[in-house]
Formats: sequence, C-alpha cells, structure tokens
Amino acid sequence: MSRVQPDRSEDVFEDFKPAYSPGQALTEANRCLFCEDAPCITACPTGIDIPQFIRKISTGNVKGSAKTIFDSNILGMSCARVCPVETLCVGDCVYNDLGEPPIQIGKLQRFATDTAFEKDWTYYEAGPDTGKSVGLVGAGPASLACAHELRKLGHACTIYDKRDVVGGLNTTGVAPYKMRADRSDAEVEWVLGIGGIEVITGVDVGTDKSWDDLVGAHDALFIGVGLGPDHWLSVPGKELDGVYGAVEFIERMKLGTVDVSKVRSAVVVGGGNTAIDAVRELAGLGVGSVTMVYRGVEDKMSGYAHEWKAAKHEGVRSSWRSQPLAFEADPSDPAKVARIRCAVLDDAKQPTGDETTIEADLVLLAIGQAKLESLLSGLSGVTFDRGCVVVDAAQKTARDGVWAAGDCANGGKEVVNAAAEGKVAAQAIDAWLKGDE
Ligand SMILES: Cc1cc2nc3c(=O)[nH]c(=O)nc-3n(C[C@H](O)[C@H](O)[C@H](O)COP(=O)(O)OP(=O)(O)OC[C@H]3O[C@@H](n4cnc5c(N)ncnc54)[C@H](O)[C@@H]3O)c2cc1C
Ligand code: SF4
Repeated sequence: MSRVQPDRSEDVFEDFKPAYSPGQALTEANRCLFCEDAPCITACPTGIDIPQFIRKISTGNVKGSAKTIFDSNILGMSCARVCPVETLCVGDCVYNDLGEPPIQIGKLQRFATDTAFEKDWTYYEAGPDTGKSVGLVGAGPASLACAHELRKLGHACTIYDKRDVVGGLNTTGVAPYKMRADRSDAEVEWVLGIGGIEVITGVDVGTDKSWDDLVGAHDALFIGVGLGPDHWLSVPGKELDGVYGAVEFIERMKLGTVDVSKVRSAVVVGGGNTAIDAVRELAGLGVGSVTMVYRGVEDKMSGYAHEWKAAKHEGVRSSWRSQPLAFEADPSDPAKVARIRCAVLDDAKQPTGDETTIEADLVLLAIGQAKLESLLSGLSGVTFDRGCVVVDAAQKTARDGVWAAGDCANGGKEVVNAAAEGKVAAQAIDAWLKGDE
C-alpha cells in the first residue's frame, strides 16, 4: 500500500546515475581487485563486505550478493542511491591511488538490491517471540533499521511518526534525481515485510502522546526523531510571501506539487548540501535563474564539491561573501518578496560596507535545521550536547531503557549513518532486554 500520492512535482526529475544493465554490472564487477582488508569496507558506516557482494555479482549469484548487502544494511537499496559514495566507499577504493577509475560500488549495490526488489526476494524472518515490546519514535532510516533488527531478534515493535508518510527524510528530503519518494516508500514496505512492526502515523509524540505514556507502554524506547524545522534568518522582510525553509519546500515538492511556473529568479541562502540540493532542484523544475547566496567562498563551502560542480553545470549561479540584510517587496505587491539585499563580506566575513541586490521572487533558506532538544525535554534523564541527544557507543542515552540514533543524536549525517546506528541500538536493546548487558 503506497503512502505517497501520485503526480508529484518531483516526477520531472530523471535518474542522475542510471542503473546498470546485467552486462554492465558484470563488466564493472570483474574490474574489482577483491582486496584483502579492503579500505572500502572500513569507509562504509554499515561495514558491508563490499568485495564479497561484488564477487557474487561476478559469479552470477545476484541473490546472494543482495543478501550480503542487506545482512549489514537493511536500507542497502536506498543507500545505493543516496550515499555520497565519493566521500565514503568509492572514495577509498584502491584504484584511486593507481590512477584508475574507482569501482562504482553504489551502482553495483543498486544493481543487486534493485534486482532483489524486482524479483521480490525476501531473506529474513522474525525471531521467536520474546514477549517484549519496543516503542520507536520517528519512522526514518534510524528507526526502520532498528525495528527490523529487533524483529529478527523476536521483539515486538511499534513505530510512531507525526507524518502520514513513512521513511523520514529518505521519503521527504533526498533529491529526486537520487531517489523519488515512491521508491523510498517501496523500501519501507519491503522492510516492514518481516512482519510484526506496527506503524502508527499522524502521532506527534510530545503533543498527541506523552513520553511517559510511551515509556509505560513499552519495555524499551528508541528515539529516531531526526532534526527539527529549518532555521530562519532574522532580517527585515523574513515574513514575506515567497520566503520558505528549504527542507519544508523540498518536502512539498517531493510529496505533492509546487508551482514555480511564474518564478523568474530564485535565491537559495546557504552553502551546505541542502542548499546545493535546493538550487539543483529549482533548476530542474525549470526556474530560469537560480543563485546560491553564501557568506563564505566556493572552496570553503560545507556542501560536497562534486555536487556543487554538477549544480554549476546545470546553470546555477553564485554570490559568494554575501550576507542577507533584508528581503524586499515591490510597491505593486508589498506582501511578496521581489529581491534580496546583501552585505558584501571580506575574507574575515566582516562587512566591507558595500551592498549587492539580487532579484528573487522565490527565496529558500538552507541555513540548517533546529535540534529537537525541547521536544525531548519531556523525557527526563536524557541529556544533550549542543542540542543532540548524548549516547554511548551502544547508542544508549543517559536514561535507562532509552536509546537514540540518527540525526537527533549525531547532529545530522547521512542515511547510512542512521541505518548503522539504528542497528547498533537494536543489538544493545536486545542485550538489555535479555539482561545480558
Ligand atoms: C534536504 C535533505 C537532503 C538529504 N539528502 C541526503 C542524501 O542524498 N544522502 C544521504 O545519505 N543523506 C541525505 N540527507 C540526510 C538524511 O536524510 C538523514 O541523515 C537521515 O534521514 C536521518 O535519519 P533519521 O531516521 O535520524 O531521521 P529522519 O529521516 O529525519 O526521520 C525522523 C522521523 O521522525 C519523525 N518525527 C519527528 N518528530 C516527531 C515526533 N515528535 N513524533 C513522532 N514522529 C516524529 C519525522 O516525521 C521523521 O519521519 C538529507 C537531508 C536533507 C535535509
Ligand atoms: S551503504 Fe553506502 S557507503 Fe556503504 S558500501 Fe553501500 S553505497 Fe558505499
């Protein structure tokens, strides 16, 4: 049952890394040197045995290859599409040092896992019922990976999410040219296929249901609530129509429709990965002029250089060393943003006294997301460091019986980190429930 509506704005995007045919996958798999102590395994947060899964492709055992991937990372299908492989597994392939193109690990992983989905291969069954129940808050990658592992170990799971869709940012946030929402939805169904994971949507924990209720209802609690809303700039005009948070706008584009047909010129404020996704998405939706406005300089931006290179290739412009001072409207339409006025900064990010003005009838703010410390303050005993839940190496919080993983604990990393941490938490919860901790 799909939880994602058809006919979404994101449908216009093509796959930016098209899938391998069986022949292409075989050719690429045969290039692998099958290194012992392969550095790519260490570079993968979920520790997938990469040479092993590639060897299985090369011997025609695609079913076994996908199992090798899923054994380490149950979200291996989405990770194959969304992982920044250039900075993870592919970035550590030994071919890089030999001056040869690195093995396309993500594309091979996609070939194996897509085939498993197409053929409806399933590999896992729930373990014998332990009579214990775990509540998981948030239905993103961290909770899904945690719940699947807990089911293998025989514990009943209930996931609560405030949204109606499941999958967290994998469904609502990742760029559609990497993965569309319906593909993430299909992965959610595949993960839930193990059985015994109840998903209750439309429940905002902390508002609709108290933390104490959840603690009382379950033997253990897992927190995977991710990050909060987009940060906002405190400048005049911030309330004008046409000014949105980038993550909020991306979610609307992925789950429904956004009308940018009348937008002549859009600005995205920020220099991180969300900002780069946003400019590429606006360009892909057909906005004629898209500019990234960033306080720093090109080689110091926090977004991935390879993604920014692609954005430039797609015609995105930039305004470096620019600090927004005000969003301004035209007298003819005083409620609607028409331009953004910026201070020009020097190398030390101090205003030079000069100003620059950029036309913008759509502005997206991609300057970070809030941490959810205040939401979780209803759960006494849990501690925080700069807004993130403090956890130990087993993802356990300072409160007995409560674990946390993913963005709410690591501050905002990647899907693969959330999947890895969720699985670690599940194993620790299992040990604790059995009294083995
Ligand atoms: C725009 C954008 C693009 C990204 N692109 C990539 C990418 O290409 N590749 C990549 O690897 N990573 C990407 N990331 C990061 C990645 O999506 C996250 O690291 C990952 O989804 C974190 O998983 P999570 O389970 O911790 O949290 P989330 O995915 O955020 O899931 C948290 C869930 O908790 C729910 N929730 C929150 N509060 C409550 C509450 N009070 N009650 C009930 N439910 C609640 C939310 O509705 C949500 O479903 C991107 C992030 C953003 C913002
Ligand atoms: S999960 Fe991501 S980092 Fe790990 S091997 Fe697959 S593509 Fe690479």
